[in-house]
Order: sequence, then structure tokens, then C-alpha cells
Amino acid sequence: MPSGTGKTISLLSLIVAYQRAFPLDVTKLIYCSRTVPEIEKVVEELRKLMEFYAKETGERNNFLALALSSRKNLCIHPEVSSLRFGKEVDGKCHSLTASYIRAQRHVNPNQPVCRFYEEFDAVGRQVPLPAGIYNLDDLKDFGRRKGWCPYYLARYAILHANIVVYSYHYLLDPKIADLVSKELAKKSVVVFDEAHNIDNVCIDSMSVNITRRTLDRCQNNVDTLQNTIQKIKETDAAKLREEYRRLVEGLKEANVARETDIYLSNPVLPDEILKEAVPGTIRTAEHFVGFLRRFLEYLKSRLRVHHVVQESAPQFLKDIFDKVCIDRKPLRRFTIIIEPFEDRTPTIANPVLHFSCMDPSIAIKPVFQRFQSVIITSGTLSPLDIYPRILDFRPVTMASFTMTLARTCLCPLIVGRGNDQVALSSKFETREDFAVIRNYGNLLLEMSAVVPDGIVAFFTSYVYMENIVASWYEQGILENIQRNKLIFIETQDAAETSMALEKYQEACENGRGAILLSVARGKVSEGIDFVHHFGRAVIMFGVPYVYTQSRILKARLEYLRDQFQIRENDFLTFDAMRHAAQCVGRAIRGKTDYGLMIFADKRYARADKRGKLPRWIQEHINDGSLNLTVDETVQLSKHFLRQMAQPFRQEDQLGLSLLTLEQLESEEMLQKITQIAHQT
Ligand code: SF4
Repeated sequence: MPSGTGKTISLLSLIVAYQRAFPLDVTKLIYCSRTVPEIEKVVEELRKLMEFYAKETGERNNFLALALSSRKNLCIHPEVSSLRFGKEVDGKCHSLTASYIRAQRHVNPNQPVCRFYEEFDAVGRQVPLPAGIYNLDDLKDFGRRKGWCPYYLARYAILHANIVVYSYHYLLDPKIADLVSKELAKKSVVVFDEAHNIDNVCIDSMSVNITRRTLDRCQNNVDTLQNTIQKIKETDAAKLREEYRRLVEGLKEANVARETDIYLSNPVLPDEILKEAVPGTIRTAEHFVGFLRRFLEYLKSRLRVHHVVQESAPQFLKDIFDKVCIDRKPLRRFTIIIEPFEDRTPTIANPVLHFSCMDPSIAIKPVFQRFQSVIITSGTLSPLDIYPRILDFRPVTMASFTMTLARTCLCPLIVGRGNDQVALSSKFETREDFAVIRNYGNLLLEMSAVVPDGIVAFFTSYVYMENIVASWYEQGILENIQRNKLIFIETQDAAETSMALEKYQEACENGRGAILLSVARGKVSEGIDFVHHFGRAVIMFGVPYVYTQSRILKARLEYLRDQFQIRENDFLTFDAMRHAAQCVGRAIRGKTDYGLMIFADKRYARADKRGKLPRWIQEHINDGSLNLTVDETVQLSKHFLRQMAQPFRQEDQLGLSLLTLEQLESEEMLQKITQIAHQT
């Protein structure tokens, strides 16, 4: 079911009811979503649910539910919170709260520390956060009132909260998972919402890119470490031994690290990797620095490449052993790719070493092993059966729900031809085809004349969008479109895109209407909702296949083929279709909303593509909406928009997509629900 049709509230109602009925069996709900606005939305749904409980039962709600996000979104320190980027906030916070900084404060009272953390550390842990529903602003308000850091307060409070809402990364990313989520009880229910991309999140969280800049920074840090060791050695050799012993222990046993310190850990990593992090050959601090230097030099030498190198993790580790005598256990399911330059700038040397994870199940397996119930859900999780294969788990139950509608509020159309019968497609061979580009332009021009308010158009990549827009400009199509609507363009710059979005919405608000040109897999396609008049039509130009020349992708496809017998084409089509569904799904954000979904590529009419769209879109595609010309599309769109323009009141939905309590409890409805439950 698409967003806005009750997925989140259904899950929350079900799990909260279970928690209330069996508090000892389900102690916690961990609800993971992707972006901060989505996290906030979940908290608001929860608030409504709790208010409803309070109203219906008259009981005071004693649940503690809270959202957790990064320091960037929770910090209340006046200077730190004003920093622009999350990394800067993390870095500055760390420089005020790290254990060694706080220890220095005992010696030097002028050493700056964060007063909010100090206050929280002194009293915050003894007083539990009162029951209630806290979004990020509520936590900040509470923190300000008490003078406590809301970030650390939230991190501590999730241990005894009944419901925690946070980002996937807090469970999947090795750099933060163990810091934040290590002590969450096994009797928790985990929900991954908006999980259509979860395999990529798993892979990203386990992969690392190393550039020359990274190595330069490492070099500086190793130098600083060396100097510090030298200084301490001159003054206090015993203290140095103790520091080193603590460092070794800290690396070996991640759990002894303090909450404000940064270290690498993950539910899966400590056993496999971290316990082996410090071999017996590194017995002193100098040895340790020597070891780091050797490793650094090795990486630098590897980045002096003139051609692309790809090797498996065991090969890479053998090479390290041969060249610098560092012995490590091989890491299976990873690959190393060293590229002398980026794909987009093939003439500028910018070497990068990708340490890439091939298997998303590595990151998610500990979650499956640790928690008793894990639910993976999304509006565009389709086809369902590929997820258990790529994430390597056995589902207890799988179900795909469509939506009950009082009127057909979505209209998917597949445009396969221009009015001149030229086949429309974004496939490689016809990318530069003048006739295809002109027909795409005509489609947008015609639609801009008939669709009121906002149109969002998605392209398969930035390069493709730039080429097409340039060509439309030369052909005068852009000028004609602008007579109907203003045009805004998403770029790779986040600030520019935010500005374009803001102006786009302004243009839609004031009735002029606008077109937003965006890119599949971009910011707009994933995180922005185009409710009601902000998105009356979405046009997907082409099939958004991922850039298949990427070596990392090629290695992953090979892995999928060898390990899971998933053919390259199947995976690529699945991946393209989930992104296409994400893009067109922007148009429908609730049952009262309506929108056109235009797939502008003849390949969408094929069963292998269509069959991978979510069920709620598929069932509205009939023979009459396949392989249309631009003119036919315009006629069908006009007809649909005319129908949708008729008044639609809440009463029209009653008994169909909206039920009163009596209707819900009626014999007929109960039978229907039982029937659906049995089907799934
Ligand atoms: S401890 Fe909290 S309030 Fe202080 S700088 Fe860090 S995040 Fe901000």
C-alpha cells in the first residue's frame, strides 16, 4: 500500500496492543525509518494512537516513546548546534565530551567541556524520563528545562523506553549500532519501515571508501600519536604502558569503551574482527604506531595505480602480508576495488580504494538473530520474494496488501510511442536519438497544458536529464513548456535543490503551477512527498537502471549470481522497478489524494517489468493503459482529471475505504477480514 494509507498506524496499533496485552513478551518496539521527517511522522501517529487509547479507556498512558536522531538534530549547545554539517557537530561535541578531555578538566579547570553533558552525567541517569511521547523538539525542550543534553538523554532513555523510533543506521551501521543499540532487549519487535532499499543501506553501512585525503589525515594523526607517545615516554613510562594496555583492551572489548568515545563496533563485528584487532606481535605503543605506519604506507602505495584493480579480500590480505608482514584473517564477502579516478572525471587522478561489502545479509543478520520479531515493510516492497533471498533469511509470513478505494484515485499510464509512432525508450542505443528526445518533450509540453498545479518529472540520471533539457532548450520545447508552467530542476547540490523545491511549492500554492525536473534515486525521489496539488502527475522518463559500468555493482552482481543464483538481469530490473515505483508513488500520499503516474518508456509494458511493480499500482494498469501514444495519454489524463475534479466528501468513503465502528464490527465485515487474513 502506498504512503498515507495507514501502514504505519496499523503496525503501531497492532504492536502497541500486543505490548499492552503481553507486557512481558514484548518489552519494546523499535521502529526504524529512513529520514528525520519520516521519524517525526511516526511519532505523531503514535501520539494520536496514545490519545485515542486515553480517550477510549480513560486510563493515563504510562508508555514512554521517543525519537532518537543524530547530535545535529538534538544538540542544544549554542555554538555546537549552530554548526552546519552533522560531522562538524559530532566532532565538536566529541572534543567537549570525550573521556580524556573531561579527565583533563580535573587538572585544568579552563579546559572547555559541554555543560549540558556534565549536568546530564551528574544527575540525568538517576531520574527516569517521565512517561509520554517525545519527538525531537520535545526532547530538546525537556533538555533545555533540565539543562541536560537531549542527545545523551535520549540515548540513555531508549534502554527503558517502550517504543523507540530512530533511523536504520542505529541498528545496521557498525560505527553506531553497538554504541546505541547494544543493550536493547531481545524481547523487542523491530520494524524496518520504508525498507525497499534496505539491502543498499546494509551494504553501504559495511563498506568503506579510502581516498588520498583520508590517508593524508591518517598520516597527520599517526604523527600526532607518535609525538604524544614520545612526550609521555619522556615524562611517564608507566602511564604510557597503562594507556596502551587500555587501548588494547578497548579495541578488544568494545563494550568497555565509554559512551562519549568513538570506536568501531557492531553486533556482528566484535567476534569476527575486533577481538583479533590487536595481534600479539604489537606489544608496545611504538610497535602499534609502527604497525599503523606500515599499513598506511601500504595503502598509499596501492593508491598509486594507473589502472583499475579488483581483488578479493583474501588476495588483498595476502598482499599486505607479503609486502608489510601484517597478518589478518580473511574477510569473506568483501571485495577491494582500487580506481585511479572517478567515473565522472576520467582524466583527473583521484585514486580511491573501495572496501566494498557484497552481501547485505552481513549487516542485518545480527538483527535477525538478536530480536524475536523483525518486520520489514514498505509501500514499494516488490516483488516480495527477492528480499528474503538477498538478505538471506526465512520469513515467517509475507503479505502484500493493496488499498481499498472509494474512487480510483490513481491512473498509471504507459506511454510507448510518440504521435509519430517513434518508440519511446531511455535505453542506451536511443539515448541520443533526436526523435525520442523530441517526443519526450512533447509529452511534457502536452501534459503541462492539461494537468493543473504540480508535475514532477523524473529522469534516469543527472547526465541524462542534462542532455535532454539542453536538447529541449535548443528545440524551443522548454520555452513552450514555460508558457504553461514554471520549471525547476533538482541538482546534486542539496542547498540548490531545497531552494528549487521551496520555489516549486510556492508556484503550486499560488495557482500558477510548476514542473520539477528530478532524478530517480535522488533526494526528491526518496524523501519528498508531493501531496495533493504538489504532485498531480508524475512522469518517469525511461527505466531507471543503475549505472551498470560501476565496478562495485559488477562485483555485487557476480556475488548475487554465485551465492544466491539471482541473475544479473533479474536484479537490475528489480532494482530499476523499485526506484521507478518510488518515483511515481510520490503522486499518491493518501486516499483523498489523486494523481497520474506516467511511465514514459515502452519497456514498462513488458510483463517482466510490469510484474515487478507494487500490487497497488499493477492492479490499475489494464490493457487500455499500455503502449499509448502521447495523444492517447493526454486524452486519458484529461478524462481522469475531470473525474477527480468532482466533489469528494468524507461520507463518500464511508462503508468503502472508511468504516464506522458499527460497520467494522458488523458480521459481514468480520467475515471479510477473516477471509483476507486466511488468504495472506
Ligand atoms: S553533549 Fe549534547 S549538548 Fe553538548 S555538545 Fe554534545 S550534543 Fe550538544
